[in-house]
Amino acid sequence: MPDPRFIPPVAGLLQGRVIAVTGASDGIGRAVAIAAAQHGAQVILIGRSARKLEAVRNAIVADHGEVATIAVLDLEKALAGDYDRLAAAVLEHYGRLDGLVHCAAILGALTPIEQYDVPQWCRVLHINVTAAFVLTQVLLPALRLSADASVIFTSSGVGRQGRAYWGAYAVSKFAVEGLSQVLAAEMSGNTTVRVNVLNPGPVRTLMRRQAFPSEDADALTTPQVVAEQYLWLLGPQTRDLTGQSIDCQ
Ligand code: NAP
Repeated sequence: MPDPRFIPPVAGLLQGRVIAVTGASDGIGRAVAIAAAQHGAQVILIGRSARKLEAVRNAIVADHGEVATIAVLDLEKALAGDYDRLAAAVLEHYGRLDGLVHCAAILGALTPIEQYDVPQWCRVLHINVTAAFVLTQVLLPALRLSADASVIFTSSGVGRQGRAYWGAYAVSKFAVEGLSQVLAAEMSGNTTVRVNVLNPGPVRTLMRRQAFPSEDADALTTPQVVAEQYLWLLGPQTRDLTGQSIDCQ
C-alpha cells in the first residue's frame, strides 16, 4: 500500500476549511497557502510584507475567487495587542479556525556558538519559537471551535540532530519540536485540536539559498511538492494523528 503522505491531495480536500499560514509571502508558506486555496480552503495569509502578501492574495483570487485575506504581522516586532487584534479578527470574520500552519522563520548566522552574536540569537529564537508560541496561544480559542483542527509547526533536520555552526536556528528548531510535543499532549483527549511538526528537508527557497549559496538549486524539491504534505496534515484523513514529527522527504 502506498504511503498516504505521498498520495496527491484530492480536489476539494480542504473545502470549507479556514486555514491560517505564517510566512505566506514566500517559499514553503506561500506554496502551502496557494495549494490550500486550490483545494477549497479559505486562507489567512500572515506575513510582515503587505506588498508580498498582496501579490500572493492576487494570485489566489485570480484563480479561486475571494478566498484569501491578509494579516500583516511582523513576528519580530508584534506586541500583545497586535496578536489579540488578529485573533479577534479571525473569530469575527470566520467564527473559527480549522488549521494553523507555521512556516515563518529566519536562518540567522551560520557561526560557531563561541562567536554567536547575542542579539542575533535572541532575534532568531524570538521569530522562530516565541512568536509561534504566542500566535498559537491567541488562536487556540478559534481552533477549539473547529470540529477538526490541525496545527502544523515546521522544523528542520538540524532540529533533530545538532550540527556544528547552525547555532540559534538549530536550537530554535529543537524548541519547535518540543513546543509541538507539549501542545499535542495538552490537546490530546480533551480537544479536537491535533498538533504535528513537519521537517520539509532541502527545498528550493530563499532560505535554502542563503544557507547553501553554491549548490544546484534546480536539483532541489520545490515548495509546491512539500506543500502536499502540509495539505495531507490539514485534511480530514489525519484527524486522529497528533504528536508526530514527520519528514517530508
Ligand atoms: P523563506 O522562503 O525564506 O520564507 C520564510 C518566510 O518567513 C517568508 O515568508 C518570510 O517573510 C517569513 N518571515 C521571516 N521573518 C519574518 C517576520 N519577522 N515576521 C513575519 N514573517 C517573517 O524560507 P522557507 O525555506 O520557505 O522556510 C519555511 C520554513 O521551512 C521555515 O520554518 C524553515 O525553517 C523551514 N525549513 C526550510 C527548509 C528549506 O530547505 N527551505 C529546510 C528545513 C526547514 P518575507 O517574505 O517578508 O521575508
